[in-house]
Order: sequence, then C-alpha cells, then structure tokens
Amino acid sequence: MKNVRVHLVIIVAALAVVAAIVLFPARSSRGQSSRAGVSFVAAAERNATLKNELTWTFGGKQQRGWYLYESLIGKTLNTDHESTTSDFAAALAAWQKKMRLSADGVLDENSLMRMISQWQSNRLKERTIATPDQLLTAPPADFYDPGRAAELRQVERNTYEAYKQMVAAARADRRLDLPPQYLKIVSAFRSRDYQDQLRQKSPNSGPAGLAVNSPHFTGRALDLYVGGDPVDTKDSNRAIQINTPAYRWLVRNAERFGFRPYFYEPWHWEYVK
Ligand SMILES: [Zn+2]
Repeated sequence: MKNVRVHLVIIVAALAVVAAIVLFPARSSRGQSSRAGVSFVAAAERNATLKNELTWTFGGKQQRGWYLYESLIGKTLNTDHESTTSDFAAALAAWQKKMRLSADGVLDENSLMRMISQWQSNRLKERTIATPDQLLTAPPADFYDPGRAAELRQVERNTYEAYKQMVAAARADRRLDLPPQYLKIVSAFRSRDYQDQLRQKSPNSGPAGLAVNSPHFTGRALDLYVGGDPVDTKDSNRAIQINTPAYRWLVRNAERFGFRPYFYEPWHWEYVK
C-alpha cells in the first residue's frame, strides 16, 4: 500500500512537470524578457531624471526636460507605460533600433531630437494661402470666443468637416465627459495681414511662436481649446494643457480624423489629408 502511494506521488509529480513544460513553453523566453527588464532598470532611472532635466534647444530657446511631450512620446512608441518604467525604456529601445540609434532605452537629446524631427515631418507641408472658395465661415458656436468676427471664423472646407466629425466623436465618448468649451476653435484661417498683426502684438514670440509662413494660411490648421490659457507656450501653461483629458484624447484619436499635432503647442492641430 505504501509502495503504491509512493508510486502515485512520483507519477503525479512527473505529470506536474510535464504539464508545466507543456503549459509554459515560453518559460525560457519569459526569463529572457525579465532579464531585458533588469537591463532597462538603469535606463528607466536615467529617464526619470532626463524627463525633467534634459537641456535641449528648440526655436532658439533653451528647453528643460521632455515631460511636456510624454503623451506624444507614448503614442509614438505605442506604449501606455509610464516614462519612468523599464517597460517604457524597452519600448523606446525598440524604436531606437528601428531608427538606427543606439538602443539603450534612454531618452537623451539625440533620441528626443530624432523623435521631434519625425513629428515635424508628419506635419502639413503646404503653406499656400487658401483661396476664398476653399474656405467656409464656421458658426460662432464652434468658437471658444463666440464673439469672434466672421472673417476670423473661416476654415478650409474639408478641414471643417473632419473637425466636426472629430468633435462629435469626442463628445460621444462617455469616458471623456468633455466640458463644453473644450475642443472649440480658438483660431483657424489667418490671412497674411492678420498674422502680421499678431506678430506685431507679440514681437518676442520668436521662431517657435508665430511663424512668418504660418500653416494657418492654409485654413487647415486649427488651434483648439485644450485647457489653461488657450495659446500660451509657457511651460507652466502647457503642463496644464497636456494633462487635460481633451488633449490626451486628441493625442490618441486625432490621427483617425486626419489631424496631426504640432508637438510644441498642445492646442495646434493640422489637417493633413
Ligand atoms: Zn496654431
């Protein structure tokens, strides 16, 4: 009887081993990925620092950290992991490898600049001033300032249609629960005269600010309300904007409707179709 029991125990143990091998064939590759995770721990620590402290230059201005671009970076890397995790570093390393950068999982200046040039190259290429027949005058209700003059409410026709579809989708998204003023248009088509006036009003906005050749000339660039002070590039203001559900929704969804971001201005979206 005792012998039978011992045999049974041995058989059950053997079955368990076989079952483990059959059920978990990925064991060795899992071991590998956790080893990879370990090797990205240092990268994750480095990223936690660089996120707030990396110094780099854009538009002739010194910039500090890349925390303002975390949502866009996550979208580019196709990861939802926090930027201070090993999983994020691993996702970054995969992107770096594709870009033929050193795949160390550290978002340093080199990798950040490459990512920015990728974002910039995805933007609207044309800067031709829209002709009157390409424009329509959108109703005051679409605007952040409903008192905005009719000539400042012009939008390129296809852009407007895509915008309306995008906003309808955002409003229908129950998880978003968008307050009414969000995603309203702050600014759309700008004539050359109007752009010149804006530039005169803020002469210090610099090359990162009001462009001489603005995509707003095309009527395909929309400044949308995403929180805070509508169009202020101060880091403290952009820090508010990039954390609003409206902005995060745009980062995840705008592309589906043909809109792409200008990374530096959370409110500025361009219709690229
Ligand atoms: Zn704009």
